[in-house]
Amino acid sequence: MIGPVCEEILLRKKEDFLIPAEKIANVMDINPLSHAFLVLSKVKYSKIPVLDREEKIVGLIGLSEIVDQMFDLDAIDPDNLNDKTVADVMETDFVTVDESNTLEDLLHLAIDHAFLPVVGKDRHFVGIITRRELLKAVNRLVHDLEQENLIISKKDLSKTKIEVG
Ligand code: AMP
Repeated sequence: MIGPVCEEILLRKKEDFLIPAEKIANVMDINPLSHAFLVLSKVKYSKIPVLDREEKIVGLIGLSEIVDQMFDLDAIDPDNLNDKTVADVMETDFVTVDESNTLEDLLHLAIDHAFLPVVGKDRHFVGIITRRELLKAVNRLVHDLEQENLIISKKDLSKTKIEVG
């Protein structure tokens, strides 16, 4: 459990955690793979969300999945990308978070995921929370905790005679 003092510092800039959907590069499930290849090459992110027509998140797609599709037995052929859509190769087993997730959940999930897609009602895509933003909060915590608080270990406290009055 995260204690209240740490939680308060970690959440000081919680409004920065969510990068809203309108700022997130994405592709649609019905797009040809060649389009996803262009988008991913341009934005230089290794993985981005895939949305359907109703702006629900239905997958994630990364450069490595696309490059895999270009391989023939003995050569790389970008034309292979024209026959397939994003839906054919996207990752469909992925983690999402919503408003019910706690800060503790986010920190645990960010260990294994560079970003966490945030969903609203009916998996409507709301945005992402990146490991980078969470690390900034942890960085703030390690700097501010001792600046603002007198920290004494419970072991030392038991040895200290506190005189009141
Ligand atoms: P960062 O922590 O900023 O390096 O982002 C971690 C990952 O989140 C990136 O590698 C992307 O997969 C994803 N990401 C971050 N920002 C965006 C964005 N604006 N559009 C799409 N994906 C993003």
